[in-house]
Amino acid sequence: MESHQKGELLPLINKQNHNYDYDLVVIGGGSGGLAASKLAADLGAKVAVCDFVQPTPKGTTWGLGGTCVNVGCIPKKLMHQAAILGHSLKDSRDFGWTTPDGVTHDWSKMVEGIQSHIGSLNWGYRVALRNKKVDYVNAYATFVDAHTLHTVDRRGKEKAITADKFLIATGGRPRYPDIPGAKEYCITSDDIFSLPHSPGKTLLVGASYIALECAGFLAGLGYDTTVMVRSILLRGFDQGIAERIGTYMEQNGVKFIRGAVPTSIEQIEEGSPGKYRVKSTTNEGEEIEEEYNTVVLAIGRDPCTSSLGLEKINVELAKSGKVIVDKGERTSVPHVYAIGDVIEGGLELTPVAIQAGKLLAKRLYGNGTLLTDYVNVPTTVFTPLEYGCCGLSEEEAIAKYGEDDIEVYHGNFIPLEYTVPHRPENDCYAKLICVSSENEKVVGFHVLSPNAGEITQGFSIGLKLGATKADFDNLIGIHPTVAEVFTTLNVTKKSGGDVSAQGC
Ligand SMILES: Cc1cc2nc3c(=O)[nH]c(=O)nc-3n(C[C@H](O)[C@H](O)[C@H](O)COP(=O)(O)OP(=O)(O)OC[C@H]3O[C@@H](n4cnc5c(N)ncnc54)[C@H](O)[C@@H]3O)c2cc1C
Repeated sequence: MESHQKGELLPLINKQNHNYDYDLVVIGGGSGGLAASKLAADLGAKVAVCDFVQPTPKGTTWGLGGTCVNVGCIPKKLMHQAAILGHSLKDSRDFGWTTPDGVTHDWSKMVEGIQSHIGSLNWGYRVALRNKKVDYVNAYATFVDAHTLHTVDRRGKEKAITADKFLIATGGRPRYPDIPGAKEYCITSDDIFSLPHSPGKTLLVGASYIALECAGFLAGLGYDTTVMVRSILLRGFDQGIAERIGTYMEQNGVKFIRGAVPTSIEQIEEGSPGKYRVKSTTNEGEEIEEEYNTVVLAIGRDPCTSSLGLEKINVELAKSGKVIVDKGERTSVPHVYAIGDVIEGGLELTPVAIQAGKLLAKRLYGNGTLLTDYVNVPTTVFTPLEYGCCGLSEEEAIAKYGEDDIEVYHGNFIPLEYTVPHRPENDCYAKLICVSSENEKVVGFHVLSPNAGEITQGFSIGLKLGATKADFDNLIGIHPTVAEVFTTLNVTKKSGGDVSAQGC
């Protein structure tokens, strides 16, 4: 009891039989790496985390915590909120608030507020590691041999660290196209959230959720915003909804150039922001030329595996450069594990990386047996009308079960709060994808609405537990809410019935 109270019992029980510096060294102090390292230390392991941010071509860098905290979910959601506030400000006049015309938005002030919050999170992570007795090594790590890492810090100081086990949690970074001016003049999501000056007229290249979310909040903040898309929007997501998002964004000021790719970017004027000429080619071979103040590349992300020295220890990589792991997140080298964005076949989401990190630590040091379940993981795209989904897209459901066995219940709806300011009636949409032969089990949940993230989080447990359409029908709604629409969906897609929004 005395040892337990002093926190000495678990380390004694879990004492590993080796002479390495650490039981576990985690490479990458992002969502997954931090979660795994803290829990492994709680369970008695001697742990170090190596985290190092290589600056972007523009020189942007950040603190401990990885992508989500610094250049991902957190600043993105806060800028999404800034855009929503702008929209709400307009609505507020119909609700009786008197606000002057010409209300303006101050980009730098927003960035300052967001960066100050991020700074406090960075600090919190450092303190948490210290409290858990996890050694934080702010240095870039590469494998030298199967149990040794070579680390180099900001000042060029080198060190060797040995460990019994390793966890690769190095995440990914934005990809740059191989065209003139890309690295010199363009920015990516790694730069935009700390951009010290307003972006001005902006081009976003790409159709990923990152491209659309950035376009959404920039247009919401009042910037002239264009998205250049090579083919489809939101690959991997339900395409019916992806197109609805495109239409909604267009109606809310985002311009789209479809079927085109940039071929070069030249600087026309220096400044903050400067001015750039973007040349592009359409699928039909037509040349387009346009000037922008900021060009944001969001064409995809590459895993951080190319300079980790993985070839020296024979960790197997997929063609994508991602690490191949088994169901227990073990790589081809038995004492090396990988989690988060860096693994092949995973899901690039923070809560997935965290869950994988925690469950892995429990399996390694706490007699845990649970594996991370990558099925029915809910997620949300913030455009800024939110798109929440869980389970299969319609395309995936058809491919898996066949069109005849799928029943899709759907409908447009208008949130009550949209009525007084006369927002469009059919922007919001709900869809349940059910398998007829399995008692109409719900295999896909999709909602396009304000606060869709909050709604989807709750309903996703229904999908995890195998809810059927009848379970949704038996559920009593909360009135007046957006979520209640899922208790009354009765038009099937096959019937071709009218799905226009009905008043409440
Ligand atoms: C713009 C944007 C918006 C996003 N929005 C959301 C969202 O709303 N919801 C959501 O769930 N997810 C979102 N994501 C995804 C989410 O950020 C990632 O899934 C998550 O951060 C992955 O965590 P990770 O631990 O795998 O890697 P990361 O968080 O990327 O951490 C990896 C860390 O390892 C470091 N590193 C890399 N190589 C080395 C090395 N050799 N030595 C030392 N350190 C190294 C990196 O610098 C980094 O700090 C978003 C991502 C982006 C880019």
